[in-house]
Amino acid sequence: MVSITFHGGVGEVGGNRILIEDGDVKLWLDFGRSFTAERRFYAGWLQPRGHSQLMDLLEFDLIPPLRGLYAQHHLEGSPIPYEEAHYDAVFISHAHADHVDYVRFLDSSIPIYCGSGTKLFLEASETVGHMDYGEHLYKTFRTGDRIRIGDVEVEPIHVDHSIPAAYGFIIHTSSGSIVYTGDLRRHGPKGEMTEEFLEAAAEAEPEALIIEGTKIDEEEGGLSEGEVYEGVLRVLREAEGKPVFYTQNRRDTDRFRTFYEAAKASGRRLVITTWTAHLLSKLVKDEHLDLPDPMRDEDIAVYFRRKRSGKYREQDYYHWERPYLERKVTAEEIRRRPGEYLVCLELHHFPELIDIKPRGGHYIYSMSEHMEEEALEEELMRNWLSHFSLRLHQLHASGHMGRRELLEAVELINPRRVYPIHTEHPELYRRLLRGRRVENPERGRSYHL
Ligand SMILES: [Zn+2]
Repeated sequence: MVSITFHGGVGEVGGNRILIEDGDVKLWLDFGRSFTAERRFYAGWLQPRGHSQLMDLLEFDLIPPLRGLYAQHHLEGSPIPYEEAHYDAVFISHAHADHVDYVRFLDSSIPIYCGSGTKLFLEASETVGHMDYGEHLYKTFRTGDRIRIGDVEVEPIHVDHSIPAAYGFIIHTSSGSIVYTGDLRRHGPKGEMTEEFLEAAAEAEPEALIIEGTKIDEEEGGLSEGEVYEGVLRVLREAEGKPVFYTQNRRDTDRFRTFYEAAKASGRRLVITTWTAHLLSKLVKDEHLDLPDPMRDEDIAVYFRRKRSGKYREQDYYHWERPYLERKVTAEEIRRRPGEYLVCLELHHFPELIDIKPRGGHYIYSMSEHMEEEALEEELMRNWLSHFSLRLHQLHASGHMGRRELLEAVELINPRRVYPIHTEHPELYRRLLRGRRVENPERGRSYHL
């Protein structure tokens, strides 16, 4: 007998943790962090304690209280006794925190399957983001692979999303196929990958479709990446000689490319953070992603903040930042020649504006508020912008399909039953998909095929 149990992603955007069981085989689809659920107990300065993070999440039922799942050292002092792993594999759809973050608590004997790009993202986050995903056996896959776990076969197929190396899965079980979308969109630069996934999913004639619904409450998915590009170009044209700053999601390389191309087209150099420089240096190893090398590309410079010595000395910076010092641009340089750069400025680095001293100029906020890992203090942002006379522009292409495309996807795949997840409005699917079997999953409950 085959069952699906939803241990997260239920009635919320993110926190996907879905258990598939077929006889003895037990595998997870994603093992992410629930930002919405977590925010009820933890935010800003109030966080799980460093030495007992798992226990501090279990206390509020923010992570499934299961045996044979977590690493022994994380379970110390918790009500769950350590047992050898009961699970065979975890399949990660993509490297967004709400899909992957909690693998850090998992027993190292459970293999983690992910795209090779996802693995590079995790490595970069460990080096520069102070993340520790723990020791794991990683097995990377590509579209076209078929991974056997006992009698179950898992087929990863690429999809377009706001991060590279995103996949959906077709899981072939003894009771038919289960399709899991992960997160996906059709309006991005690689929309054809999503089409390929949807077609393969339809061919599998699935028993069940587990589908995301982040934007089921919006008719359309919003701007396309091309429209964001046009918007950025318009701002740059208008800004002649003036500084232009922007903030984007760190892991969205499509958006990076948008700013990179727009900067080139308007004769400016793109100034990126050391974080992005490090990430790009990792990702250039994956030729499928075709990204510029920040060490070689003349159109890219790297912003260095003044630290300790105040003189941009090598020892002021982390080891992983030092190689980029030769590509350095500073506040003083941008102050002198503001019209020559397009500068990435993250919200927590806004104090750099005090050194750059812009007098008029533009700021492009290029991310969704929803996926932000920390609450956006919009009022603070507006106060800073008004203090420095920077005009705010909001330009963003979502990583998710809107309602029309989501419903089209369901019709195309034509599953026997639909499980909406990763949405605050699962009930909309039932209302909109008249005549279809739609089950709004309850957290922790098993559904049998
Ligand atoms: Zn995502």
